[in-house]
Amino acid sequence: MTANATRILVVGHDDPDGRSIRKALADLQDGAFIVECVPRLVDGLERLREPGIAAVLLDLRLPDSQGIATFDQVWRAAPHVPILVIASPDDEDVAAQAVTRGAQDYLQRDRLDSYTLPRALKRIIERKAADEALFLEQQRADVTLNSIGDAVLSTDLSGTVTYLNPVAERMTGWARQEALGRPVAEVFQIIDAAMREPARNPMDQAIQLDRVLGLTPNCLLIRRDGFETPIEDSASPIHDRGGQVIGAVIVFRDVSQARAMSLQAVYLAQHDFLTDLPNRVLLNDRLTQAIALAHRHGQRLAVLFLDLDRFKHVNDSLGHAIGDTLLQSVARRLVTCVRSSDTVSRQGGDEFVVLLSEIGHADDADACAQKIGNALAPPHDVGDHHLHVTATIGISIYPDDGPDAETLIKCADTAMYQAKDGGRNTYQFFEPHMNARAVERQAIEAGLHRALARSEFVLHYQPTIDLDTGAMTGVEALIRWAHPERGLVFPNDFVPVAEDSGLIVPIGQWVLCEACRQARAWIDEGRRPMAVAVNISAAEFRDPRFLEHVRAVLTDNRLDARYLQIELTESSLVRHAESTVVTLQALKDMGVQLAIDDFGTGYSSLSYLRQFPINVLKIDQSFVHEISADPMGTSIVCAVISMGRSLGYRVIAEGLETEEQLVFLRTQRCSEGQGNYFSGPVGAAQFVRLLEPIG
Ligand code: C2E
Ligand code: MG
Ligand code: MG
Repeated sequence: MTANATRILVVGHDDPDGRSIRKALADLQDGAFIVECVPRLVDGLERLREPGIAAVLLDLRLPDSQGIATFDQVWRAAPHVPILVIASPDDEDVAAQAVTRGAQDYLQRDRLDSYTLPRALKRIIERKAADEALFLEQQRADVTLNSIGDAVLSTDLSGTVTYLNPVAERMTGWARQEALGRPVAEVFQIIDAAMREPARNPMDQAIQLDRVLGLTPNCLLIRRDGFETPIEDSASPIHDRGGQVIGAVIVFRDVSQARAMSLQAVYLAQHDFLTDLPNRVLLNDRLTQAIALAHRHGQRLAVLFLDLDRFKHVNDSLGHAIGDTLLQSVARRLVTCVRSSDTVSRQGGDEFVVLLSEIGHADDADACAQKIGNALAPPHDVGDHHLHVTATIGISIYPDDGPDAETLIKCADTAMYQAKDGGRNTYQFFEPHMNARAVERQAIEAGLHRALARSEFVLHYQPTIDLDTGAMTGVEALIRWAHPERGLVFPNDFVPVAEDSGLIVPIGQWVLCEACRQARAWIDEGRRPMAVAVNISAAEFRDPRFLEHVRAVLTDNRLDARYLQIELTESSLVRHAESTVVTLQALKDMGVQLAIDDFGTGYSSLSYLRQFPINVLKIDQSFVHEISADPMGTSIVCAVISMGRSLGYRVIAEGLETEEQLVFLRTQRCSEGQGNYFSGPVGAAQFVRLLEPIG
């Protein structure tokens, strides 16, 4: 007896059949079968309540039951156990009937030999197992198809619908029973969303090409009642056993939500959240298209780069919320200045770009720039404020100024900068010579990053002199850039770029550290301590960590605050008067000296400057140079000196170059001077030599 022998239950007379059966199976060499015999139906049913029976051999004539009812009872008792019916010659029809009701097969009583019987048993056991597996498989498929969120529809080779799952029923509007047998094109109607023409049915193709076909892009499914649903689909061929295509399955799903979301995402990616105007990305697209069109028709177009004047001032003094509302107001007005075929976009910050997609002549751009200026002029009511803004505009023209979007925007931007330089609230057409400047600025900016990293900056020092005694009263630290190729570069050539790019902050921090370190070193060498003056740009001064940095540098270098003088130009003081006073007062409280640099160039009155806690007034060198040459310049110098003195300031004349200037300044009782007449700015090593004879 083998461990995995197959247990057969024989329900029937023990004799003669039982014995011959037992004999037929026992004859087998491999002991594959174990036979249990019960004579009556009740015994059989009883046994089947227990597990372990692989197949039943059933005689339909039992002492306690006859005919087809015998089969029915056994079948009901163990529906999963295969049943082989033993048929007598005279009741073969009953046996056949049993087969239609679930028996696996029947065998003539006289065929119960050791050849036929084991084979028949094996076959029915295998078939029953296969049937069970198939049933399970089908169950699984049914449950899956009924519960998934995708719609599934299948057809035969001729394109006749053979199956729909519930989702497909819902989406097509066709009940399965109605749809079956109809042509697929009738049930699954799809059109191209853009063209509104019938779309190619992917099933036909899947069948023709015998491969899985991906999505039909941009497809709408028309439901039976006409309702349209955007769908995505894929179709796969179905094969028979021999690998022949016999139909296709299409799987599709409703993508209206996903599509709406992606449309929304596309919109967001192309528009500015604040003003709802097209953003940089969309402008680039439109400009590129417009260029292609203009090229084809031999027409021109214009790009206007617009930057609001002093917008930062609004933002800084009134807050971002007001600034944002102002930008929205500006955006609305800009849109009214152009045709609907033109594009107004926001590049970010307070920069806008307007694309005039068709202009006959450059004058049209001119007119539009003026129109914009006029539109922006009336005050913008934002909260309780009536805000006045102006814009500076740079204009570039296709094809004159460049062949592509990037170049045209860059040219317009360059022209805008040029216009700003020449005063605000204007516009300016791009001119080729401007380019060089932009390129130059870019090169400088890149160079400055490198210079910071590689410590290419040095400080030169220039003394200030008491005009009566000739004694040195202080020293001004002036930055130079030791450029690896260009040699020594002067601040006028890179400080403006550093200011625009924000790099002035780290550069200025370095200057302050280095100047204080040098001052400390001189003191440590036993020289007479005196104030070192450091120039501070507006951007540095406004940096929130400025005060903290000054304090730290003084502490680190054990430098008394009175040995530091901070120089601010008139314009950077005036720009943010309120916050400036606070910072200046904090510096003054610390003990730092404060100077107004380049005084006289900023058009502000001395009485106005009185609100600032200042110690030193430096008269701009342009006035000093005009001494004697221009009576008007001379009189300004005189006025400044006397007013400065009366307000208790130290007054320093900058750019003092000649004996004549010196004599004149002395007679005007100007206290100090700084200039090449005494010494130009020199390196620290050379400056030490100045200290001896003068100090
Ligand atoms: P500033 O603060 O008014 O400095 C005086 C400028 O006049 C210096 O130019 C100096 O070299 C020049 N100068 C001195 N004596 C004479 C003279 O007799 N005749 C003439 N023609 N010029 C004279 P520099 O060094 O080229 O600096 C120019 C400006 O750059 C400075 O003007 C200052 O505003 C700025 N600057 C210099 N160093 C720094 C710095 O470290 N940080 C910042 N933010 N700005 C700086
Ligand atoms: Mg200065
Ligand atoms: Mg100056």
